Amino acid sequence: MLQSLKYNKHELSLLKQRELLFVKLENNTEGADKSDNLGLSLFSEKIAEYNYPELIPEKLEILQVNLGYLCNQSCSHCHVDAGPDRRELMSLETLDLCLDLARKHAIPTIDITGGAPEMHPHFCYFVSQAHKQGVKEIIVRSNLTILVSHSKYEDMPKFFRDNQVRVVSSLPCYTAENTDKQRGDGVFEKSIAALKKLNAIGYGMAGSKLCLDLVYNPGGPFLAGEQSQLESDYKRELNDNFGIQFNSLFALNNLPINRFLEFLLKNGHYNKYMQTLVSAFNPATLSGLMCRNTISIDYQGYLYDCDFNQMLEMSIKDSSQKAIHIKDFNLEYLANRKILTAQHCYGCTAGAGSSCQGSVV
Ligand code: SF4
Ligand code: SF4
Repeated sequence: MLQSLKYNKHELSLLKQRELLFVKLENNTEGADKSDNLGLSLFSEKIAEYNYPELIPEKLEILQVNLGYLCNQSCSHCHVDAGPDRRELMSLETLDLCLDLARKHAIPTIDITGGAPEMHPHFCYFVSQAHKQGVKEIIVRSNLTILVSHSKYEDMPKFFRDNQVRVVSSLPCYTAENTDKQRGDGVFEKSIAALKKLNAIGYGMAGSKLCLDLVYNPGGPFLAGEQSQLESDYKRELNDNFGIQFNSLFALNNLPINRFLEFLLKNGHYNKYMQTLVSAFNPATLSGLMCRNTISIDYQGYLYDCDFNQMLEMSIKDSSQKAIHIKDFNLEYLANRKILTAQHCYGCTAGAGSSCQGSVV
């Protein structure tokens, strides 16, 4: 059975207001108290202490395209709030604009996410066009279960192989109990079946160029453990118990937004978790934050510094404070922008840091 957290409209609106308060504090600090309502330093003030008066971009290397919020799962920690009832999907026109953009600016990586991107009706078109036009690296963030959920996705692993896709998949634990707790009953078993399918055609196998990475995120209000240790634990357990191979493990922190924020608030963990993130702030992560070489695009074609800012509706604005659409993409303007930050950014800078490629340092 899928997990779902039920809130009434009033509770959801309070949660949203709380997120937006942080955004407001960060971006309008004129004469304001330099702390949030928990007394914690604003992220912008914290990074200023380490000679980062603001976060600025470096060379654009990754176009992260969110195809929409439709998903076959409803994981309890989902920062996208994705699920089977979501109907937001990127139009064919916007998909083509993303392809044009990658070609025009020779962006080496397209990172495709969702929801479950495979469920998008034009997913295969988008991936095969990106491959045809020579995008160096095509990443698909697959939740694994979709690959064994319906006969129409049966050949997806072969499609990935034929288009040289790098598959990055969430598997929050190598035990069924912990994985199912976070992602829903039966998810672990289906994930193992999908991983076996991927291994069978060469994904993650020694000597193969087909790359299969796994993603770990904590099952509660604590930071991700040390990435290399987790990777060796996963490799041992998955090999010994299921004969499964993979390339790398990415250890991510949960950011306090959407369903994870709901979870924190509902269980009274919010204050402590924020304090944990702030106490673990690591300035060495600042140079490698993913927002510095990535542009994230939402299903409607608007631009963001990262997928998290996308979920908080913190879009990149033009000089008249209007959200920038992909149709108006201007690399020079974007290269000189200030990356928008708020209290959720502490999740990316805590401990060894956290990004879509795992630890930052
Ligand atoms: S975490 Fe991934 S698999 Fe789970 S609901 Fe969100 S998008 Fe779907
Ligand atoms: S959430 Fe992380 S990636 Fe996004 S802007 Fe903040 S620090 Fe950068």
